[in-house]
Amino acid sequence: MAKKKKRAPLPELPSGVWLFDSHCHLDMEDYSTDRLAVIQRAARAGVSKMMTIGIDLPSSRAALRLAESNPGIFCAVGIHPHSAAEADDAALTEISRLAQSVKVRAVGEIGLDYAKMHCPAEEQIIAFRRQLELAAELKLPVIIHDREAHEETMAILRQAAPFQQRGVMHCFSGDLTLAREVVDLGLYVSLPGVLTFNKTEALREVAREIPLESLIVETDAPFLTPAPYRGKRNEPAYALYTAQCLSEIRGITLAEVAAQTTLNCERLFTLEGK
Ligand SMILES: [Zn+2]
Ligand SMILES: [Zn+2]
Repeated sequence: MAKKKKRAPLPELPSGVWLFDSHCHLDMEDYSTDRLAVIQRAARAGVSKMMTIGIDLPSSRAALRLAESNPGIFCAVGIHPHSAAEADDAALTEISRLAQSVKVRAVGEIGLDYAKMHCPAEEQIIAFRRQLELAAELKLPVIIHDREAHEETMAILRQAAPFQQRGVMHCFSGDLTLAREVVDLGLYVSLPGVLTFNKTEALREVAREIPLESLIVETDAPFLTPAPYRGKRNEPAYALYTAQCLSEIRGITLAEVAAQTTLNCERLFTLEGK
């Protein structure tokens, strides 16, 4: 029988310091056999809080169920641009109903995805605008997904600004100029595991130059697994690899990165003291 391969050790946080995974999808099928183990592994490694994000109505409901049964898990409810066609009146009413739970800390993920174009751009734009309005009504921050749609996303956000409740550009994939525009709108920039890959100079520049007060980290698990697990299934504990990479780029300690990005998440999702 083949020997079980040993896991690479996770970067270690000093006691009393935690890391917040600002974006994962714990409801997905990928975790159907070991979801609880994944959550416990994260907690043991110090990734004790996480936001699990809805992409449509079923996943938003599932995200809320997970959040309601785990103290460290909070969630966002919303309709992803891939499913923009589903964002009709009934769906938005259901999103508002779900958002009455204190465990719902954001509307998302919402935005534009011109890379895959599962939905025509016009439909994506309508769904994005309507959910920005909904978030404002609900007084919740927004989690924005922008793939190859930087210009249009920023134009819509500028029209919707100022954001009373703030938000985050998740899985940031632009350059420093765009990151500065995002921060000027009062939004956070969320860095994914892509930061740990080779040849990501533009993203590394963002990680180096944007004030730490405006940065948070995420896994987007089960996707976008950081090195050394690139290509495998991602999980919230691996946010530590991205945080470590960020600390090396900035020449500060992992503990400093963890403390500040966690504080940022707590401010963004109004979880201070929770
Ligand atoms: Zn996304
Ligand atoms: Zn996502």
